[in-house]
Amino acid sequence: MKRTKIVDALKSVDFNHDILVKGWVRSHRNSKAVDFIALNDGSTINNIQIVVDPTSMDAEALRSITTGACIGVTGTLVQSQGAGQSVEIQSKAIEIYGLCPSDYPMQKKGQSFEYMRKYAHLRLRTNTFGAVFRIRHNMAIAIHQYFHEHGYYYFHTPLITASDAEGAGEMFQVTTLDLSRTGKTGEVPYEKDFFGKKTSLTVSGQLEGELGATALGGIYTFGPTFRAENSNTPRHLAEFWMIEPEVAFLDKDELMDLEEDFIKFCVRWALEHCKDDLEFLNKMIDKNLLEMLQSVIKEDFVRLTYTEGIEILQAAVKNGKKFEFPVTEWGMDLSSEHERYLVEEHFKRPVIMTDYPSEIKAFYMKKNADGKTMQGTDVLFPRIGEIIGGSVREESYEKLVAEIKARGMAPESYSWYLDTRKYGSCPHAGFGLGFERLILFVTGMQNIRDVIPRSEER
Ligand code: ATP
Ligand code: MN
Repeated sequence: MKRTKIVDALKSVDFNHDILVKGWVRSHRNSKAVDFIALNDGSTINNIQIVVDPTSMDAEALRSITTGACIGVTGTLVQSQGAGQSVEIQSKAIEIYGLCPSDYPMQKKGQSFEYMRKYAHLRLRTNTFGAVFRIRHNMAIAIHQYFHEHGYYYFHTPLITASDAEGAGEMFQVTTLDLSRTGKTGEVPYEKDFFGKKTSLTVSGQLEGELGATALGGIYTFGPTFRAENSNTPRHLAEFWMIEPEVAFLDKDELMDLEEDFIKFCVRWALEHCKDDLEFLNKMIDKNLLEMLQSVIKEDFVRLTYTEGIEILQAAVKNGKKFEFPVTEWGMDLSSEHERYLVEEHFKRPVIMTDYPSEIKAFYMKKNADGKTMQGTDVLFPRIGEIIGGSVREESYEKLVAEIKARGMAPESYSWYLDTRKYGSCPHAGFGLGFERLILFVTGMQNIRDVIPRSEER
């Protein structure tokens, strides 16, 4: 017999026929005359109830089917007598695929996330992680759907690169050399390395994304990104996925419209496609989750300059607000508690912050006429802080070269990038969204390590 997925069995009204379901036991309880097994196969947050007549099978075999065991059940789909489910299966035969010994770490309900991180390879078998990863899948589909519908091309930028998109370190080196065996001088002979030069894993696909944008009009990347930054926070990973649209002929206002429209589309998609999982997370993880998601798609994002933001933060400090990182003066970089204050306490809405001081941002961002600020458009979100970093890109060849030199970088190593400005340069803009930060927001989870399949090694 062909397997029926539990998500379909639960919706079925084709009663009194035999079906076959397969999955992992969530619980097995036994009341005098019958046994009840709650079975889950990952196709939905909901379990199907299996009703077993204990006289129908070997008593010891039945007793061995404990939480975590994997079984296949052939039985009759019937309308349920009990409360809490509409259909159940009256078991005729159970096949045991894998028993689950009593030291199974996911046996108990309600373990802390910290505990589960130690067994991250098994936590996918729990309700919460099942919900998170079904939502993660649906968000990936939403992203492709949005950009495809709007005429952007999915563009695969290289993962191994010799350029540093930010112009400032924190990259994982890729080499075939044995670095413990450098030459006599102690210098590493990179000319003998695989590519004949020093290479690393990418920190952003943007620079190559711009090659696509200035030829195809609009592209987006969606792939892994690596940062060896020492930021052991609940919002930073060493390996994460980034979505980076890059678009020709887009100005700052249009860029903000794109950011807002895109992120609202993703949240709306989650509300439409992940109803059961979101309701579960709303009940178990964050009682405010659904309300928060609804409010984000309803309200306009606040659009605020960095300068206005600093003024609000300074006024808050004057009125007694305490921050861990001091609010000093214009020019300081905001930390996530500052961003969250603006979003959660001051405006109570997402904020798009613009016109940051050029000095705290990357070299390729277009400066305003004042020479001090640039056309950045970061999106700040409740619970997350920065979720998107975006900007208009500098399209003038001369200005870009001057900026690269002013920052002590070598224009030669960006010659391929500079050619986009040398030949038929065009105004363009783009942004980067951290995929896991979006998943954090949509699921209500608190720690970015809990929305990836397995915890990072360290
Ligand atoms: P932050 O200030 O939070 O470190 P950033 O300014 O370094 O962010 P960008 O370089 O603009 O971030 O990257 C674009 C987006 O990628 C960010 O808005 C964020 O959503 C995501 N992101 C950046 N670094 C990480 C990381 N280490 N782990 C997960 N997501 C990240
Ligand atoms: Mn960072």
